[in-house]
Amino acid sequence: MPFDETSLKTAAGWLADAKRVVVFTGAGVSAESGIDTFRDNTGLWRRFPPERFATLPGLLSLAVTEPDELARFLRAVLAPIAAARPNLAHLAIARLEHHVETTVVTQNIDGLHQEAGSTRVREIHGTLFDVVSPTGHKVRSLSRAELARMVAALERIERGPFKLPRLVRTVRPLMGLGRGLAHRPRVVLFGEHLAEPDWTSAQEDAAACDLMLVVGTSGEVYPAASLPERATDVGARVVGVGLETGYGDVWLHGKAGELLPRLVTDAFGDDVTRRG
Ligand code: NAD
Repeated sequence: MPFDETSLKTAAGWLADAKRVVVFTGAGVSAESGIDTFRDNTGLWRRFPPERFATLPGLLSLAVTEPDELARFLRAVLAPIAAARPNLAHLAIARLEHHVETTVVTQNIDGLHQEAGSTRVREIHGTLFDVVSPTGHKVRSLSRAELARMVAALERIERGPFKLPRLVRTVRPLMGLGRGLAHRPRVVLFGEHLAEPDWTSAQEDAAACDLMLVVGTSGEVYPAASLPERATDVGARVVGVGLETGYGDVWLHGKAGELLPRLVTDAFGDDVTRRG
C-alpha cells in the first residue's frame, strides 16, 4: 500500500499537541537493526516451533536429548541481538523525550531502546541482558560483547564433539543449565507471567497517556496487545506504524526506521538523522 502523506500530517499534529506519549513497540522496530521478527516467513518460529523451543521444559529436555539443536536455536536467537545497533526508529523514539513526556513500552528483549537513549523503558517481556535467580532477583547484567563471545562459542559447539558439557559451560553466564536452572535470563517464555513491575507500570502508562504510537507489532501476543485498547478507553489517540494495518485511529504504512524520523521532524522540526 502506498505511503499516505495525509495520515503522516495528522499523526504529526497529534504528536505536537500531545502531553504524555506512550510508544508501544514490537519486533518490527528492531527489524532494521537486523533482528528478524519471529512470525514472518523466515521468522524463528518457522525454523524452531515455539512449543519445543519457547518453554522452559522444552528447552531443558532439548539440552539433554539434542544439545546441538539447542545450540543452533540459541545461536539463531542470540547472534542478531549480539550484533545489533539501534536504528533510526529507536533513535527517533529516544529523541521524543526532548519534546514531550515519553514512556517506551516494549515487547522486545534486545535492549536497543536504552542503547538509543530512551530513559523510561518498560520491558514487559523482560530482557536478555539481566540474569536472574529462580525467585526473579537480579544476579548480574550481561553485556552485548559477552553475548557475542557466547555466540562464537556456540558456533564451535555445533561443529565439534562433547556437545552437552561444552554447551553447559558456554551458556553458564546466561543460564545455569544442569543445576536445576539456577539462573536464567529475565526473558518471559511462553506460558509465563509478564515481567513485573514493568507490566503493571505499562498498564498505568497506557491509561494515563493522550497519544500512543504502536510500532512494529502484529498485535497477536496477549496480554501485551491489549495496551492500545486501554489507551483508546481513556480517550487517547492511537497511531500505528508498520508493514501491516493493525489497531489505530491512523495507520502509517511502511518501515519504522523511515516513518518515525519523518514523524518527529514534522511534529517538532527536529532532524533525527543529524547527531545531537
Ligand atoms: P511479530 O513478529 O508478531 O510482529 C512484528 C510486526 O512488525 C509485524 O506486524 C511486521 O509486519 C512488522 N514489521 C516488520 N518489519 C517492520 C519494519 N521495518 N517497520 C515496522 N514494522 C515492521 O512481533 P511482536 O508483535 O513484537 O511479537 C513477537 C514476540 O516475540 C514479542 O513478544 C517479542 O518479545 C518477541 N520478539 C522480540 C524480538 C526483539 O527483541 N527484537 C524479536 C522478535 C521477537
